Amino acid sequence: MTTATVAYIGLGSNLDDPKEQVLRASRAVANLPESREIAFSGLYRSDPMGPQDQPSYINAVMALDTTLSPFELLASLQTIERDHGRVRKGVRWGPRTLDLDILLYGRACVRTESLIIPHAGLAQRPFVLYPLAEIAPPDLTIPGKGSLKMLLNACPQEGLERL
Ligand code: ATP
Ligand code: CA
Ligand code: CA
Repeated sequence: MTTATVAYIGLGSNLDDPKEQVLRASRAVANLPESREIAFSGLYRSDPMGPQDQPSYINAVMALDTTLSPFELLASLQTIERDHGRVRKGVRWGPRTLDLDILLYGRACVRTESLIIPHAGLAQRPFVLYPLAEIAPPDLTIPGKGSLKMLLNACPQEGLERL
């Protein structure tokens, strides 16, 4: 029997009823094979990164118990993104109906062309750290980056509003 790993998934959307996109995506993630939802954070509204001429985002973080490998999980999340009408236009951090990022996969460190875990932006992004802190153990440490508490202290909640 394979033991399950707790993965944290970041959800984001800023097009076509973002709140509904995020909630619908959370149900799709919870229904993935070999996976079970453990926790879902509150919803947050955040200022966009990158191009500022786009609507603000709705973000949340979900904890998932899964026996899917990190690469199987990435492929499954990308299928859900496509099912939600995500079109990749080549603009970095441009608007999208749905973005699903693997933030953490247990204590794994992955560094390949297509997958980096812990997620490369995790430590600097308030819309990741604050919802993550709602559902993660208070003493969580991020492999290679330090304690979640320390990262939160260094990251003002600027441009982020809990709904
Ligand atoms: P960012 O990754 O800075 O949040 P983004 O989410 O807008 O930006 P995308 O266009 O969604 O970036 O994804 C670009 C690529 O990132 C994907 O094709 C995927 O292969 C890769 N990637 C690397 N690490 C991860 C991860 N931990 N979770 C999801 N995708 C990842
Ligand atoms: Ca992202
Ligand atoms: Ca992404």
